[in-house]
Amino acid sequence: MPVMRIPYTDPLPAPRILPPSASTASGTIAALTNFLITPSQTSRPTPSPPHFPAATNNYARSTRASSRPRTLLLTGAGISVASGLADYRGSNGTYTLNKTYRPIYFSEFVASHASRQRYWARSFLGWENLRRARPNTSHRAVADLGQAGALQAVITQNVDSFHKILNDPISLPTLELHGYLRATVCLTCRQEYDRQAFQERLCELNPAWHDFLNECLRSGALDTENPIERRQRGLRTNPDGDVDLPGVDYASFNYPACPRCLGKDARVDVDQDGAVLSTNKAGVLKPAVVMFGESIPPEVKTRAEEFVDSADKMLVIGSSLATYSAWRLVKKAHDQKKPVGILNMGGVRGEEGFFEGISGDNDGTIAFRSQEASELILPEVVERIGKIWGVSTTKGTDDPLGEANASASL
Ligand SMILES: [Zn+2]
Repeated sequence: MPVMRIPYTDPLPAPRILPPSASTASGTIAALTNFLITPSQTSRPTPSPPHFPAATNNYARSTRASSRPRTLLLTGAGISVASGLADYRGSNGTYTLNKTYRPIYFSEFVASHASRQRYWARSFLGWENLRRARPNTSHRAVADLGQAGALQAVITQNVDSFHKILNDPISLPTLELHGYLRATVCLTCRQEYDRQAFQERLCELNPAWHDFLNECLRSGALDTENPIERRQRGLRTNPDGDVDLPGVDYASFNYPACPRCLGKDARVDVDQDGAVLSTNKAGVLKPAVVMFGESIPPEVKTRAEEFVDSADKMLVIGSSLATYSAWRLVKKAHDQKKPVGILNMGGVRGEEGFFEGISGDNDGTIAFRSQEASELILPEVVERIGKIWGVSTTKGTDDPLGEANASASL
């Protein structure tokens, strides 16, 4: 059965903090450390020693590592707020500040040239903000936890690619459940293109909009990390990287077709500059994100389920699990009787079910719930686990964003 990305905007009840000591930062650090280092009852048995030469340091290390729990981490928009990106339902979240916000649905994008003009105009302005954003302390701490062996894999609902950039692809595989904004993809031939190159093409096709963007950059409307200030300066970026522009006519916005399909597929219809016409029927470029109302690719859905099946525990950071595709993964882990931990400001969909029957003497080992800010908690947890396990936890301090290129250029 396909799993669609659907927003869920109802208010969520306040959480029960677990253990109660996790209502402070120091209590949260202690409880989360317990959660991450204590093997769970559902943990796989320690594998028997291999037959090849055993008495080496490497073998000793791997034996120690094999007794550690395999924790699967799921992250959402909350972890990127400290990078200046809005979340959905935090105190400065899109649903909180902008009650009329409604993201574009996949079916609208596919069906309507006007919808695509509106989407790409807003994305054109929002891209600069995303391009300038950088991973924050929490993303770096996640990469460090991976290096320390405290995480098995990361599944993220975010489309900013910060985990993908920082995490070691071998020791900490990262699955982008809802795709990524760093590329566009052709709906006809599935070729991906670098989003920054696409941006430059949009500049060429839309000189007046390009001037407007430069004006926004000069006025500082895109500089501030505070969504309220940004709005006061006339702009607001939403979690999916688009910008609110009340009262603007999008009909003048031009966007290009897929270069690979152009000239090969007679249904591609563009003007002399290469701007797609309303009569166009193929070579439509879409952001490489799973839009609302769009199905998650089957291979991504399967991989996410495999991660859950092979994990001992599941930790959620910065997500209210309002999206069914994310909630169902935690539900699956819970149904498999795996401990669930949640670090998120505000309520989480269905969390009372995840923590039902947890007794008062739990120290974070079998259940963890806190509302503390991840950027304050995670670096301390990294340091503690590093000391307990005697492993180095100093990765992720560089800014490797310059390496974040995607596929062919447009
Ligand atoms: Zn194409």
